[in-house]
Amino acid sequence: MTSHTQKAPQPFRSLSPAVMRASTVVFDSLAEFTRRKERQPDGYSYGITGTPTARQLEHRIAELEGGAHCVVTPSGQSALMTTVMSFVRGGDHLLVSAACYGALKTFAHNWLAHFNVEVELYSPAIGAEIEKCIKTNTRMICMESPGTVTMEMPDIPAIVEVAKRHGVMTMMDNTWGSPLAFRPLEHGVDFSIEAATKFFGGHSDLLVGCISMNDAGYYAAVRETQSILGQQTSPDDCFLVMRGLETLKVRFAAQSAATLQIARELEHHPEVSKVLFPALQSDPGYAIWKRDFSSSGCLFSLILAPAPEAAFNAFFDALQQFAIGASWGGVHSLAAYYPAPLQAERAFPLTDQPIVRLSIGLEDPAMLLADLNAGLDAFRRTRAVAT
Ligand SMILES: *Cc1c(COP(=O)(O)O)cnc(C)c1O
Repeated sequence: MTSHTQKAPQPFRSLSPAVMRASTVVFDSLAEFTRRKERQPDGYSYGITGTPTARQLEHRIAELEGGAHCVVTPSGQSALMTTVMSFVRGGDHLLVSAACYGALKTFAHNWLAHFNVEVELYSPAIGAEIEKCIKTNTRMICMESPGTVTMEMPDIPAIVEVAKRHGVMTMMDNTWGSPLAFRPLEHGVDFSIEAATKFFGGHSDLLVGCISMNDAGYYAAVRETQSILGQQTSPDDCFLVMRGLETLKVRFAAQSAATLQIARELEHHPEVSKVLFPALQSDPGYAIWKRDFSSSGCLFSLILAPAPEAAFNAFFDALQQFAIGASWGGVHSLAAYYPAPLQAERAFPLTDQPIVRLSIGLEDPAMLLADLNAGLDAFRRTRAVAT
C-alpha cells in the first residue's frame, strides 16, 4: 500500500451512516485489479458503480419496496430513463401513459423515437383494455399511478396481468404514493421507480432517484446502464436521503392526514370546480385507489372555476404559506400552475382548463386552509371584475 491509501479507521460506531467518497477504488494486488469487472453488479471497482454509502441507501430502499435489488441514480428522471434505456432497443414498441412524468414523455418522443423506437401514448385511466395496444414488438409499458398532475388511476394489476401474458416488461413511477402507500413489486410490476427527490429526501434540497426490482438479471443490466451512461450519485446526497428516510413514516402520515383534510374542505368551495385526488369518494379513481393503496400522500390538483389568467395571478399572489415552485413532497407547502393550453394539447386530455397543484407540507393544516381560502377569495374578486 502506498502512503496515499486511506487505511480503514479505528473501530468507531455512530448512529449515522458514513459518507464514503471515491472516484478511485484501490486494490490489494494486480490480480485483484485485473479481475475488477467480476465484482459487478454489487461490488466496488470504480466510483461510477457506487460506494458503500450508495449501497447502504440501496439496501434500505429495497427493503422499503419489498424488493431484492435497488439502483440509485442522480435524479428521478434519470431513474425513469435508465430503466427504459436498459431494455428498450431500436425496433421495439414502447407504451407510455399520457399522464406519465412529462420529461419521460419528452425523452421518449425526442430521443427514443429518433433511435427507431416506436413510442405510443395510452389513456391514463386504462386497465385490461391495454391489451388492444400490445403489438408483437412491444417491449415495455411505462405506468404512473396516479397520473402526474391530472391524477387518473390506471388499474395496475390488470395491466400487469396483460403484460405478463404477452411477455412485456412493466415499470411504474411510484413517487406519488411511495412504498408506504403502494408496493409495485408486490403487484407484479418489474421495476418500481421513485423520485427520492420528493418524499424520501423530504426537504426540497436534493435530487436522487431509485429503481427497485426482484430479478437478478434485470439488476445486472440496470447497474451496467447506470454506470455506462455515467450516472453516479453523490455519496453526500445518498447520506441526505438516508437521513430523510429516518423520518419518512411520520412525515408521510402527518402530511397525508393534512392533505386529505384540506382536499375534503376544498371540494365544497364554490370557486373549485373539481379536486383531482383519488382518495376522495367523488374521484373517478377512488375505487381503484381504495382497493390497491393504503394511503394517499401529500399531492393533489385543483381545477378552479373558469377564469382569466389575472384571477390565477391573484390567487398565487395572495398565498403567504405556499411557496410557488415545481417539485413536491418536502416539509414546506408548494403550489404550482399548469396552463390551459398545456392541458388541452395533451394526448387523452382530462381538461382544457388550467390546473393548480398543491403539495402539503408539515405546517399547521388550519393555517394552510386559511391561506388557500384567502387565495380563492382573491381569485373570486378578480374573476368577478373580469367577467
Ligand atoms: C419529480 C418527479 C419525477 C422526477 O424526479 P427528479 O428527481 O426531479 O428528476 C419523476 N416522477 C414524478 C412523479 C415526479 O413527481
